[in-house]
Amino acid sequence: MVSVVVEASKCTGCAHCTDVCPVTVFELKPLSDPAFKGVKNDPAVEAKFKFRDKKSIAVRGSDCILCEACLFECEGECITITDDEGHTYKSVYK
Ligand code: SF4
Ligand code: SF4
Repeated sequence: MVSVVVEASKCTGCAHCTDVCPVTVFELKPLSDPAFKGVKNDPAVEAKFKFRDKKSIAVRGSDCILCEACLFECEGECITITDDEGHTYKSVYK
């Protein structure tokens, strides 16, 4: 099964992942969501991009079809996808 993980400390909430994913893997959640308790914004990402009042969670990672669209659109370079064979793909912002 494919898995998708967002590293919350680097997620700016830019919504690019929710915009491009054809199978609705991601959902934006408010910072008050328990999933973000204790998460501190990554200073290196914060120096480059504005952090919004939400962050993304990969709620349906097993639906991912590995189209790779999100991997090129993620400001925080914080998405990691692992395929059935254990190969990992990391986001690189273009
Ligand atoms: S690679 Fe997967 S999670 Fe990313 S946009 Fe494509 S289907 Fe969605
Ligand atoms: S594209 Fe990346 S930085 Fe932007 S909301 Fe999605 S996971 Fe967060």
